[in-house]
Formats: sequence, C-alpha cells, structure tokens
Amino acid sequence: MDHFLYRDGALHAEDVPISEIAAAVGTPFYVYSTATLLRHFQLFDDALEGTDHLVCYAMKAASNQAILKTLAQAGAGMDVVSGGEYLRAKAAGVPGDKIVFSGVGKTADEIRTTLSGGIRQFNVESEPEMEVINAVALELGVIAPITVRVNPDVDAKTHAKIATGKSENKFGIPIARASEVYAHAATLPGLEVIGIDVHIGSQLTELEPFELAYTKVAELTEHLRAEGHNIRRLDLGGGLGIPYTRANDAPPLPVEYGALIKKTLGHLNCEIEIEPGRLIAGNAGLMVSKVIYVKSGEGRDFLILDGAMNDLIRPAMYEAHHDIVAVQEPAPGVEQQPYDIVGPVCETGDTFAKQRNMPPLTPGDLVAFRSAGAYGAVMASEYNTRPLIPEVLVHGDQFAVIRERPSFDEIINRDTIPEWL
Ligand SMILES: *Cc1c(COP(=O)(O)O)cnc(C)c1O
Repeated sequence: MDHFLYRDGALHAEDVPISEIAAAVGTPFYVYSTATLLRHFQLFDDALEGTDHLVCYAMKAASNQAILKTLAQAGAGMDVVSGGEYLRAKAAGVPGDKIVFSGVGKTADEIRTTLSGGIRQFNVESEPEMEVINAVALELGVIAPITVRVNPDVDAKTHAKIATGKSENKFGIPIARASEVYAHAATLPGLEVIGIDVHIGSQLTELEPFELAYTKVAELTEHLRAEGHNIRRLDLGGGLGIPYTRANDAPPLPVEYGALIKKTLGHLNCEIEIEPGRLIAGNAGLMVSKVIYVKSGEGRDFLILDGAMNDLIRPAMYEAHHDIVAVQEPAPGVEQQPYDIVGPVCETGDTFAKQRNMPPLTPGDLVAFRSAGAYGAVMASEYNTRPLIPEVLVHGDQFAVIRERPSFDEIINRDTIPEWL
C-alpha cells in the first residue's frame, strides 16, 4: 500500500496534487511520501515485536538526508556501505551506535572515519579486511565490534546482478570456513566478535531462500557458541522484494518474514538486526516526467519523455519493470494504446517500456513511474550533461524540495582546465 492515489481525476502524493509539484519544481523529479516511508518501516518494526531488534534502513536504496531523518526519528538505525554514507547518516542526525557498516571493500580511511565517529558494528567480509579493522582499532586505541558476513550458498532466485548469497558471488566468507575465520578473529586484540551477518540478495519474492539461509545461521550460531564465541547479535540483511506490478504475485509480507525469523532464530536469544532498503523506500517514491514528443514509427508509437536512463537506470540495468501511469486519470472507458516509452538519451538502452498500454497522451502530459523510490535517485548520473533531477518530500498537505536541481553552470564549472590548455 502507498499514498499515491487519484483524487478527483488527479494523481496525488498524500494530499498534494503531483501537477502542483511539477508546476513548482519542473520535470522530471522524484517525489517521496513520508506516510509510506513510515508505514513500511513500521511494518518491519512490528513484525519483530517481542524480539530484541533494530531495523537498520539500508540507506543505499534512497539516501537523501530528509528520508534518513524521517526514518531515524521513527527509531530506525542505518546500514551503510561506504564512508560517505556514514557521514551522510551522521549529518542527518543518526547516532553512530545505530549505524552498521557493511560492504566488501571497506578502505582503511573509511574504517578510521567510522571507528572514530562511533559505530554499532562492522559486518566483516574477508580476513584481510578483518586485519585492517584490527590494525585501525589498535591505532585509535578502541575495540571494534564485528560480525562476520557468511555466505550460506543459497540461491536467492532473483536477478543475477542482485543475488549475493551463492558461493560464486564476491560477498562474505564461505560458511564452511566460519569456524576458522572466527577463531582467527578471536586472536585479534582490536576486535570484539559479537555476532553473525548474512545478506543473500535483493528483490527476493519468496521466503524459502531466507529460510534456508537463516536455518544455516542458526546452526552456525550454536556451533560457534560451542567453540567459545559469544554470539549475541544476528544481522540478517535486507532483500525482501516489493510488487513492481500490480498484477504480479505479491511477495511475502514483512509480518510473514518476521514470523520466519522468529521461527528459525527465536530460540537463540540473540538481538536481531535487519537491513531492509527496497521495501521501505521503493513504493514510497515516484519519478515524474513529462511527455516531450509523441512520435509515430514503423508500426509503433514512441512516447519521448524528458526523463531518461540517467535519471532512472533500473529498466536499462536490470530489465526492471515500472508501472507508468498518467498523472491525469484517464476517463473511464478510454481506449488504451501501446507505446514504446523512451528517454532522450542517445542509446537504445534508454527505453523504459516497450508496447506499454497507456491512455492517449500528448506533449506536456505528465506521467509517473511507480515504485521508483529505491535505487532510483541514488543511481542517477549526469550522463549527457543532464542535471541530477530534484527530490521532493511530501508530508500530508505540505511538500518540500529536499534536493535542488543543479544549474548548468554548477555542473559545467565543476570541471577544471589544466594550465597547458
Ligand atoms: C543492498 C543491501 C541491503 C538492502 O537490500 P534491499 O534489497 O534494498 O532490502 C541490505 N544489506 C546489505 C549488506 C546490502 O548490500
């Protein structure tokens, strides 16, 4: 459920007409709904009720500080995957002891930044990284709390580019080597081993891969405890999928996911951490774009939009489907017609949808890409010297620009010319 609905024939974000935002900020832009963000966070928090837990929003999904602040004020921690994300979370007011640092290639500089600024834990991905965290901790005279990310070798049954839990993926250490790696960690004086971490992929639409992975984590917990490690926190990653089409089979609900966590891991008396990103932000955001031209081709019509692959790369990168709706609600019974919906960038990959049925549209009409809140704005680029598009946050009947569209001068003046030219 989200808060983007038609009212009196016009698509709204909560109580604000999308067309009003478009008039104020220009197109294209991203718009997020506070109520939807909070609702999704709350679903996870409620799903783990009765268990000692922290929902750490995976901020790489949508990292605007206004979004982070909205979630942090509701009690969320953050999962960060770079030193930059850490600093952004801190700037949004998130305390270090609610920030978890994940990611396969943490540099010594990033480790120094996060360890000196305060961190809840490092999710360690390899033994060489463990050595560096130890060295930096000793240099700073602190102890670094760590979990080790294990790779449970399960098939997440998702798109290959976002599956992370098979043994051939670059993530974590093979679960079969966990004993050895934990024994090594225990010898390093700058580290305190507190738990286990696992994250098997993104946009999972079934519970079974989670069940396989979490069952392996439960066995590993008992095994490591028997070997003398004080395993007391389990970080279970993110990855629960969202419905990208309204026709689609619905992915499992957070409450079902929570019940699975309790069933597989509840008896261990560990603190549970989860790191959802997509499910919190995905359906809480739209990308709104304007039709520039309608072009008739050989046997097909093209809708050419002012938004492009640099603004929303998911269709080009993951063959992702986004529902695209007209901002002006089509009159009942209006006949739909198929369009290829494309952006202006000079690449055939700049195609959002092929032969998509839409009501008849004309230049100037607005369309909204649904489910664009996660991995949308954060993956945007300035390819073709197209400015990063603004982000807007709606709260009831209010809205605010939370990232401005840069001017062309700002973009162009970022280049510096060497003195020999
Ligand atoms: C990307 C990522 C997440 C979030 O995944 P979603 O599919 O957005 O829920 C959580 N944890 C880690 C380690 C990640 O890399």
